[in-house]
Amino acid sequence: MEKIILKPKRAVSLRRFHPWVFSGGVKEKPAPIQDGDLVSVHDHHGEFLGVGHYQDASICVRIISFEPTNAALPFWTEKIQNAYQYRQQLELTDNPDTNCYRLVHAEGDHLPGLIIDIYDRVAIVQCHSVGMYRERVKIKDALLEVYGNKLETIYDKSAESLPSAFSKDKENGFLHGKQAKGIAQENGHLFEIDWVEGQKTGFFLDQRTNRQLVAAYAKNKTVLNAFSYSGGFSIYALQAGAKFVDSVDVSKKAIELTERNVSLNGFSTEQHQAHASDVLQFLRQAEQSYDLMIVDPPAFAKSLKKRHNAVQGYKRLNAEAIRKIKPGGILFTFSCSQVVDQTLFYNTIVAAALAADRKVRVMHRLSQPPDHPVNFFHPEGSYLKGLVLFVE
Ligand code: SAH
Repeated sequence: MEKIILKPKRAVSLRRFHPWVFSGGVKEKPAPIQDGDLVSVHDHHGEFLGVGHYQDASICVRIISFEPTNAALPFWTEKIQNAYQYRQQLELTDNPDTNCYRLVHAEGDHLPGLIIDIYDRVAIVQCHSVGMYRERVKIKDALLEVYGNKLETIYDKSAESLPSAFSKDKENGFLHGKQAKGIAQENGHLFEIDWVEGQKTGFFLDQRTNRQLVAAYAKNKTVLNAFSYSGGFSIYALQAGAKFVDSVDVSKKAIELTERNVSLNGFSTEQHQAHASDVLQFLRQAEQSYDLMIVDPPAFAKSLKKRHNAVQGYKRLNAEAIRKIKPGGILFTFSCSQVVDQTLFYNTIVAAALAADRKVRVMHRLSQPPDHPVNFFHPEGSYLKGLVLFVE
């Protein structure tokens, strides 16, 4: 295994179990080194710090172990087993009401660059680093060791998540089995999941607990689910007895998926309408008729450079939502941009309320569910933020 030597003082964060090595902290690296190579990282005295995947980028090593390892199959099996046991404690692995969950949440499960989502008997593997991608066959074998015949299909969906320079000639594909779509259950609600054609791994599992809170407030309400994707929040609201739900998403495919999910759960167009539209446009022409609104946009900022524009975007969007909610209405608003932290998001929504000239109270502060854990030593893993607001 090739060695990477860090500059003096650059070992501190690794000793605190932060799993990233930045290229500026590297003193020596071997000349012939490929993206995705497994390397061992050492301080400037040569003392071992960890083993990780190399990539020629600002984050140049992602540590997968702070103990020496050659990362053969038993290493991966143990990692997947640990992730599985943790979800077992969350009562997600053998739950008659919920058979979909995140099994591996990258740094949150000490596996930087790797996401694995489970939909009943299907696992979707999404690699965000070249190194993880090169391990995908071992990851597949480890999944089969842990789950046995409980897993029938393993699908690799890394083509869109890998660094673009590397992903050009890569295609998504089956690592095991061949099921292309299916139906999963979340808290007793049914969802068609299309991992091949759908967004991300096919479904937004990170809103599971927040959807339950929407259900708690939805009875007899007129609801707007903005950025609805496959209709997660809409289905929960309908099941909880909402009077009427409008779902809005700019993607036609998402809207069709929402409509199929509405009928799959036994609801009709009398209670629900889906609109393929830009949310801001929809809100601008909407009446002040909603008792409950959910605003869950995609990440507006994927990098620090884009943060300022993202904040402006969140402000404009939320100001319009706050203007258009009925007096006494409840707004669930979210941001999944990792670079917009909780405080910045909060302050942005305060600015939106001021722009909308409405009085607002905070009812709940929301985040990601426990199958998307945040490693204490890698606070960057905390990305989903939400506020539930009472708008007077
Ligand atoms: N709330 C969803 C997840 C939302 S993901 C859930 O619980 O599953 C963000 C969604 O916003 C995507 O489906 C994307 O198609 C949609 N989107 C992106 N830009 C949009 C826009 N300007 N107007 C409406 N929808 C948009």
